[in-house]
Formats: sequence, C-alpha cells, structure tokens
Amino acid sequence: MLFQQSLIADELNIYSARQESLIKPLLDQFTESTDIKVNLVTGKGDALLTRLQSEAMNSPADILLTVDAGRLYRAQQAGVLQTIDSSALNSLVPSHLRSSDDKWIGLSVRARVIVYAKDRVNSNQLSTYEALADPKWKNKICVRSSNNIYNQSMVAGMIASQGMEKTEIWLKGLVGNFARTPAGGDRDQIKAVAAGQCDIAVVNSYYLGRMLTSEDDNQRDAANKVALFWPNQGDRGTHINISGAAITKSAKNPISAKRLLAFLAKDSSQRWYAEKNNEFPVRDNVSISKVLASWGPFTADTLNVTELGRNNSSAIMAMDRAGWK
Ligand code: FE
Repeated sequence: MLFQQSLIADELNIYSARQESLIKPLLDQFTESTDIKVNLVTGKGDALLTRLQSEAMNSPADILLTVDAGRLYRAQQAGVLQTIDSSALNSLVPSHLRSSDDKWIGLSVRARVIVYAKDRVNSNQLSTYEALADPKWKNKICVRSSNNIYNQSMVAGMIASQGMEKTEIWLKGLVGNFARTPAGGDRDQIKAVAAGQCDIAVVNSYYLGRMLTSEDDNQRDAANKVALFWPNQGDRGTHINISGAAITKSAKNPISAKRLLAFLAKDSSQRWYAEKNNEFPVRDNVSISKVLASWGPFTADTLNVTELGRNNSSAIMAMDRAGWK
C-alpha cells in the first residue's frame, strides 16, 4: 500500500503573496525531502484572493500564502479555504497566531512599532499607541493611508482591546497629529522621519530591519537616524500580525498541503524564513536575526489574530469617520 502511494505523482500548487526569493529555497528543501513537487504562483495578496474566488472549485491552488491576518480572514469569509485539522500544526503554532476556526495558520510574526527620530525624540516621551493621540505630537506623526491593511489591523486590535468608543476618540486625536496627508508605504514613513518631515511613525518592524541591512546607502542612512520603540509594554503588549498560510477549498492534495505547512512551521524552517524576511518566528524557542535581537526583547499582544479580521470592517469605518485618508 505504501509502495503504491509513493508511485503517485505528488504535486502542490501555491498562490503566494510573498517574494519568490523569500520562500522558494524552503520549498525546494521540502521537495528534496519529500519528493512532492511544488509550483509557485506569485502575485499581490488581494489579486490572489480575487483569483481564488473566480476560480472557485476549479482553482489549481492547494495553498494560499499571504500576509496579514486581516487578509487571511477575508479569504476565509470569501469561502475559498478549507478547515485545517492537524494536531501537529496546532502544537507547532501557538493558538493566538492561528485562525480560531482552524482556517489558516501564522508562519511568521511582524510587529507594528513606533519609530522615532533619535535626535528629536527621547524614548521616555513614548509609551503606548493610545498616547500617540496626545496633542503634544501635533504635526509630528507620519503613517500610511487607511487603505492599508496593516493600519486596519492595528485599529481592529485597538477596538478589540479598548472598545469602539475609546477607539473613535483615539483615532480623532491620532489623525489630528498627522504631519501630512498619508502617502507612501511604511518605508516612506521611516524616510520621512529621517528627513525631518515628522518625528515619529508607525511601521511594520521588518521594514526597518530591511532598511538597516540594505545594500543601498540611502536606506541604511535613513534607518540609522531612527530608533524602534515597543509600544504598550506596560499593558497588553505590542500589536503584532502574521504572515500565514491556508489550504484552499479546491485543494486536491490536502494531506500533502498539511505536510508542507508543518515543514514551514518546524524549527529550522522558522529560523530561515523569519531571518530572510526580517520577521519573528512563531515560537520563542527559535533564534532570531542579529538586527531583530538588537531591538531587545518585547512583550507581544496575545490577542488572537482572528480578531483583527473580525473587526476589520468596523476599523475601516472608524478610520473613515476620523478622517484618516
Ligand atoms: Fe509589508
């Protein structure tokens, strides 16, 4: 029986929103150790979801790899995922980094942190996300637009922790402190702080990691003008999010798909994947890169990341009401 199974050509198709160079070497290792061939289709997260929806049960995809729990939750709501029933995966990925409905799992962790101008801000002036609404930061804060899922998830986390009423008040204060109309990506916010257009920015941790290790002098110079601050260390911890994976409803090969997810979640893969992406592994026992270690240890919010998806539409509406462009 086993012999016969091994004769079946085994193949997995992945729709991935991650850059090919940041995942392909791991997939090659998987193929080498299992003889399961992996085909990778790379695209933008939202476009891949649209494609999965239009292909429906005819989709060749077995696995969706994408970033942000908010996006994984959207895929779940769109009905294109199947339940992942795996005790092996449940023991590899902490429960708060997995869908509470077993529809997707986290494979790496990113934190949405405060960065500040070293020459104009002292870290003792900083404390929490909530405190960014203080009028002392008027015209000092840069952050990207509310269209961006990272900000939507951060606000969704605030709603989960503080409730809508407090979140609305916070948003008005925060938006009132913007130094400019939101523009550009997270890297552009770091550059704007470095250039003196604002004093602080809220960005995903790996962008700073990438800039600090960049071959481009300008990126490194900008990154070196700012420092990272871990918000909310005295209470719920810093807002984190995940990059993750799900098995599609159309998957012809869910058993092999689960094997691949378990492969990506094991220690050696976690170490490589997190380091390559300047992200954190999903488990504390796995070592982190030098750059990330240089930021010191931090307490991360243990809110189940499913809540970020669940509160996404409320977050978008609240950001809109607060005038966050
Ligand atoms: Fe990103």
